[in-house]
Amino acid sequence: MIKAVRGTRDLLPPETALWNFVEAAVRDVFRTYNFHEIRTPIFESTELFARGVGEETDIVSKEMYTWEDRGRAASEKGQMLTLRPENTAGVVRAYIEHKLWDHGLNKLYYIGPQFRRERPQKGRYRQFYQIGAEVLGPASSGSQRPLRDAEVLEMLATLLDRLRIKDWTLEINSVGSSKDRAAYNEVLRKALDPLAPMMCTDCQRRAVTNPLRVFDCKVPADQVIIEGLPRISDYLDSESREHFENVQALLRAAKVEFKINHRLVRGLDYYTRTAFEFTHGALGAQNAILGGGRYDGLSEALGGPPAPGIGFAMGEDRLILALQELMPTISKAPDAYIAPLGEGMNRQAIRLAAELRRQNLVIELGDRSFKLGKLLETAAKLGARYAVIVGENEVASNIFALKNLATGEQVDVPRTELAKKIQT
Ligand code: AMP
Repeated sequence: MIKAVRGTRDLLPPETALWNFVEAAVRDVFRTYNFHEIRTPIFESTELFARGVGEETDIVSKEMYTWEDRGRAASEKGQMLTLRPENTAGVVRAYIEHKLWDHGLNKLYYIGPQFRRERPQKGRYRQFYQIGAEVLGPASSGSQRPLRDAEVLEMLATLLDRLRIKDWTLEINSVGSSKDRAAYNEVLRKALDPLAPMMCTDCQRRAVTNPLRVFDCKVPADQVIIEGLPRISDYLDSESREHFENVQALLRAAKVEFKINHRLVRGLDYYTRTAFEFTHGALGAQNAILGGGRYDGLSEALGGPPAPGIGFAMGEDRLILALQELMPTISKAPDAYIAPLGEGMNRQAIRLAAELRRQNLVIELGDRSFKLGKLLETAAKLGARYAVIVGENEVASNIFALKNLATGEQVDVPRTELAKKIQT
């Protein structure tokens, strides 16, 4: 038997109804914040991710699905291509390629699959789905202003509330400018020098290669040491500090609850200032539902003009896990089941079904059966609310027997009034 590849999975009904529900809510909320959808290709040149995500990240160094394309001629070397592991690099590439700065401020969102060769577990897949948004534009569009950070965070709080996700926590931090971070990195390296030998082997390595990543450590024994390390907030320049204070004041004004997490840092040069993460209590080990932040230097890292920006990526698979209990209220059973009493009635039944479906009703159509009992049994199994009986008498008189499957009550309804009656 050929099975779905490890780390990938089929999304089947009725769960797909939940995915559709989430995506409809996302589109609706984003629309009211004046965000517009962008769809970028699922594969891009490998170089885009090497530059746009960072060669030294786990994603690029270990987790990408990369292959060499066939060259145009047999002798020609093919281009290196990669299945996108995230979508920000693609969006910024499109911003540069289509000169989207002509639009001033761009507020873009995407929904789609991403690919990373991680070790699969609950909430972690090799093909997973992200919902994300990016705000970016030239400095003249105000894309670097704290209001944009706060607007994105408030939009996310609104979205999670709208999806009835209750136990979310928003943590924010500022990672300053790339200069601030370079200075902080050195301070951290020095502070770690005498401490690293007491820490886990991963931290011993990080202390040398990339000290900021020490903050990702989950080993319980290391936590006391990590808590005592210097904090990036003490190394921010005055502009970054003011930006961070402004974001917090705006969040308070918008009544968005947040906590400051000094350990939330990002190591790459193009990340600037605000970094944030939303977590959800019920998700266990993989409890991050979304992460994001400012990336004022990314466009330039990809060869574009300066384009300050802020964005996030939300794990749709994890969001769905947190929403499983909503499923029974979302998946929709048919409004009515059309029961043709015999082969000759199929033609009448398919016509009547089309009429009712055009009036926005969900209709399932039975196939010929001379046994009414059997048809009603099938209708009940499907969870249909009504059965419409299509027999010779009904067709001749244009009056149909409509049976309420919950109460067993049956009434005769003229064809023209059927849809209305089923809708009530
Ligand atoms: P990142 O792009 O790594 O910042 O991830 C953003 C969000 O995507 C995370 O908070 C997760 O919710 C989700 N995510 C990342 N990797 C995976 C994965 N392998 N499987 C499922 N969700 C993921």
